[in-house]
Amino acid sequence: MHPDKTASTVTAAPKVSFVSLGCPKALVDSERIITRLRAEGYELARGHAGADLVIVNTCGFLDSAKAESLTAIGQALKENGKVIVTGCMGAEPETIAERYPDVFAITGPQQYESVVEAVHRAAPPQHDPFLDLLPPEGIKLTPRHYAYLKISEGCNNRCSFCIIPRLRGDLVSRAAGDVLREAEKLVAAGVKELLVISQDTSAYGVDIKYAASAWQGREVRAKFFDLARELGSLGAWVRLHYVYPYPHVDDVIPLMAEGKVLPYLDVPFQHASPDVLKRMKRPAAQEKTLERIRRWREMCPDITLRSTFIVGFPGETEADFEMLLDWLDEAQLDRVGCFKYEPVRGAVANDLAAAVADDVKEQRWHRFMQRQQTISQRRLKRKVETRQHVIIDEAGSTVAKGRSKADAPEIDGAVYVASRRPLRVGEIATVKIERADEYDLHGTAVGF
Ligand code: SF4
Repeated sequence: MHPDKTASTVTAAPKVSFVSLGCPKALVDSERIITRLRAEGYELARGHAGADLVIVNTCGFLDSAKAESLTAIGQALKENGKVIVTGCMGAEPETIAERYPDVFAITGPQQYESVVEAVHRAAPPQHDPFLDLLPPEGIKLTPRHYAYLKISEGCNNRCSFCIIPRLRGDLVSRAAGDVLREAEKLVAAGVKELLVISQDTSAYGVDIKYAASAWQGREVRAKFFDLARELGSLGAWVRLHYVYPYPHVDDVIPLMAEGKVLPYLDVPFQHASPDVLKRMKRPAAQEKTLERIRRWREMCPDITLRSTFIVGFPGETEADFEMLLDWLDEAQLDRVGCFKYEPVRGAVANDLAAAVADDVKEQRWHRFMQRQQTISQRRLKRKVETRQHVIIDEAGSTVAKGRSKADAPEIDGAVYVASRRPLRVGEIATVKIERADEYDLHGTAVGF
């Protein structure tokens, strides 16, 4: 039992205001930093003004993201004055220091220790046993019922449009036992869906030669298949992101067919023309992707395939682009995101071939989206009259908002669920799908 907390034993804890920009991977970094600071007794402030300091976790992937990061730093300086910058932009401290010489400290991506050490200097921790209490699963920024699980840092690929390996370094995989223990804790704390992320999930373990580590009294290898299988035994939904179409990915599809991991693959294909893929230096670019997709669907007919593409890559010809449209027709992907190529400072791609004119990029983007939209809509319509398991993200008095196994949070569509009793966030209901619109499904809960 804890002794009473009295006014004399509690002094005000230092308050940290946190801005988290960028991708889900950066969000996981933010969660780790916050967990650590909370464990040391720091509190999170609601705004910059009332805080002792501000941490800005930046994104430096595209120039537009850098601009957003710089604006966030400027705002934090204006409203608070004591600012620690971390994340991808921290790998380029000169850019930040040039614009904002008053920044308190700048640390690079994944340098948790340096961030915490800078926080200690800016506002020393107070060792108060009452404030040091921390739930074992950590403090999470994502809703409680789903969590991102980062299995590695960095990347061994060298895609010509990407500066992530320069910012984050080569692949460093976590031991399987370590990942599984974190997953286990999350599930014990009520997480119902684990989203596996990294820069290249299919490359997991390559750097540590697939070394085995102990978990639950046995040895588990740091291999994509082994990890997916063990994660699938925890009783939560397991969703795999950023997987490349290497042959060994085929091994995981039976786990999907058996219901161990979600029948969902997020594969960033980026293009279909061999010339463009070669210039992009994409991993697994030599694989016959349509053939691969066909095999995946044969093994697991329910599989949902999501991907992202870049149009207007330097040197992309009309013929390359048309090849991509034809590929889309063949591939019949379920969900697709498309970006117009944006030259990232320092990326090799910018000098590989002539840039595609902005108006051509724009046109191609619209043509691409139109073509894919018809496909996505047709595939979504096939769900009408079926029953789907739906995880509830937002409760409502008559209609709740959730996602089926085919929908990842933030990036895919939603399922709107009417129910005779209010549904709880995190609950998984069986829903009869009644109609589909452009991106979303609508239905009624028929089982709880
Ligand atoms: S796989 Fe390519 S795009 Fe992805 S992080 Fe690695 S280098 Fe960048």
